[in-house]
Amino acid sequence: MTTADSRKKKPLRFDVIVIGGGLLGLSAAYNCARNGKRVAVIERSNFYNQSGSSGDLIRMFRTMYTEYELQVLAYQAKDLWKELEEEYRLDTGKSVELLRLTGQANFGDEHYGTAAQGDLKKPRENLRKGNKQVTDVSMKQVEKKYNLRNLRNLIPGDRWVGYENDDCGVINVPETLRALRRLADGRHGSLFLDNAEVYEVHTPKKKSDPAVRVKVRGSGVPKGGQELTADKCIITCGVWTNDILKNLGLELDYEVWEMVYEYFATDPDSVPSEQFPKMWVQFATEDKETGRSNLFYGFPSVPWGPDNMVKLGWEDATMNRLTLKELKQRRAEGLGQVATTVDVGYASRFVKEHCVGIDPQPAFSGVCLHAAFDDYMSVLGRLPRTAAGEDPDTADKRAWRDHYVVCAGGWAAKFTPSFGRMMWELAFDDKAQVNPKLLDITRTRRTGKRKGQAYLNKLE
Ligand SMILES: Cc1cc2nc3c(=O)[nH]c(=O)nc-3n(C[C@H](O)[C@H](O)[C@H](O)COP(=O)(O)OP(=O)(O)OC[C@H]3O[C@@H](n4cnc5c(N)ncnc54)[C@H](O)[C@@H]3O)c2cc1C
Repeated sequence: MTTADSRKKKPLRFDVIVIGGGLLGLSAAYNCARNGKRVAVIERSNFYNQSGSSGDLIRMFRTMYTEYELQVLAYQAKDLWKELEEEYRLDTGKSVELLRLTGQANFGDEHYGTAAQGDLKKPRENLRKGNKQVTDVSMKQVEKKYNLRNLRNLIPGDRWVGYENDDCGVINVPETLRALRRLADGRHGSLFLDNAEVYEVHTPKKKSDPAVRVKVRGSGVPKGGQELTADKCIITCGVWTNDILKNLGLELDYEVWEMVYEYFATDPDSVPSEQFPKMWVQFATEDKETGRSNLFYGFPSVPWGPDNMVKLGWEDATMNRLTLKELKQRRAEGLGQVATTVDVGYASRFVKEHCVGIDPQPAFSGVCLHAAFDDYMSVLGRLPRTAAGEDPDTADKRAWRDHYVVCAGGWAAKFTPSFGRMMWELAFDDKAQVNPKLLDITRTRRTGKRKGQAYLNKLE
C-alpha cells in the first residue's frame, strides 16, 4: 500500500496516526505496530530527510547527566537500543550497530556553570550515586588519548576536572531510521505515507465522530487530498509541532534553532591510532576576548561514516533563534541554511590550536533544526484536558484531547527507543504516566525569570 493510486478517497481508518516520521515518530510507530496496533505514519517530506532534527550521520549517546533521573532513563534506553539491534538482526540477518558504545570523557574547568549539555561536576556524582563505572582522568591523559593539546590555555590546571564513563557512545542515525521503519512497515496493516502533509486536524463535534480526523495533502496522496481517522494520534513533528497543535487551540513555548555541524579530515599518518577513541566534551569557560563559548565536543569516526573524518561540535555554532513563522517565511522564499564564517572560523581555530593531526579546514558542514525549550528538556505527554490559560470548567468538552500524545524538543535521539515505548503506553494505557516528571508536557518552569509558567498554553 505505498502508491498514491492504491489508496481510495474515503477516510482510511487506523488505531493510531503518527504525524512526523523522524526518529521519534518512527519509534512510536514501531512500538505501536509491534503491540498489534494499526498505524499510519504521515511524513511531509520523504522518510530519512535532512530537513528536520534527525539529519546527519551521528548523535551522541550519553549517560552523564546533571539530573539523576535522566541518567536512569539513559541506562534503560541503552538496554532498549540493544533489544532493537537484536530485533533488527533477527529480521534482516544483518548485525548492525545502532548504538556504538565508545565511552565518553567529560573534562574542563570546575568553575564552568551550566548550559545545554548540563554541568561538569554533577554527572560524575550521579554516576557514583548509581554505582556506575566512572574513572578520573588527568589533563595529560586526555591530551595523549584524544590527540588534543594546549588545554592548559583554556582550563587552569588547578581547576581541572576530568572523568570517563564507558556506557556512552554514538548513535547510527540513518540505520536507526531504516530499522524502525522496516520493523513497523506493513505490520498489522500499518501504512507509511511520505510526501504527505497533515494540514488540518478536526476536533470531534459529536460523540459518534472519530476522536482523530486529519486531512493530508501532497504528492504522496491522491489529488484533492486524503482523510484519515483514528482513535489516537501521536504528534512528533519536531520544530513544526505548533503547526499541528494550533488546530487544537494550543501551543508549546519553544524556539526554533538552526544548528550547524562540521566534519574535519584527519591525517592517518600523524595520528595512526583513532583520532578520538571516545566521545569527548570540553566544559571550558567562555573566551575572554570574544565572550564566546568554549564548549566543544568531538565524535569518533564511525564505520558507517566517511573514513578519516571526525565531527566536531561547538556549542555556540549558529544557533539562529527563530520563530516558526520566520522559519516558514524563509522556506517560502526558497532560502536554505548554511554555516556562517564565524562558525567555521571558530571551530577551525579550536582545531588549529588544540587538535593534533586534523586539517583545520572543515571538510563539510550541514544544518539541523531543533525545537528548543529553555530548560533544554523534551516535552512528552498526553494533551491535558485543560491547558494553562483555560477555564477548567471546559474540561469535559475537551475530553478528546487526551487521545493525543505529543513529544518534542530536548536532546532526544538517545532516548529514541524509550520515548517510542512511552508514547505507545501513553496512547493506549490510560494509567500510563510520564516518568521522569521533569519531561511532562504539563510542567511549569522550575527556575529563572519565568518560574511557574507552563510550556503548554492555550493559543492566544
Ligand atoms: C544539530 C543537532 C544535534 C543534536 N545532537 C543530539 C545528540 O548528540 N544527542 C541526542 O540525543 N540528541 C541530539 N539532538 C536532538 C535529536 O536529534 C532530536 O531530539 C531528534 O532527532 C528529534 O526527532 P523527531 O522525530 O522528534 O523530529 P524530526 O526528526 O524533526 O522529525 C519531525 C518530522 O515531522 C515532519 N513533519 C512536520 N510537520 C508535518 C506535517 N504537518 N505533516 C507531516 N509531517 C510533518 C517533518 O518533515 C520531520 O521529518 C540534536 C539535534 C540537532 C538539531
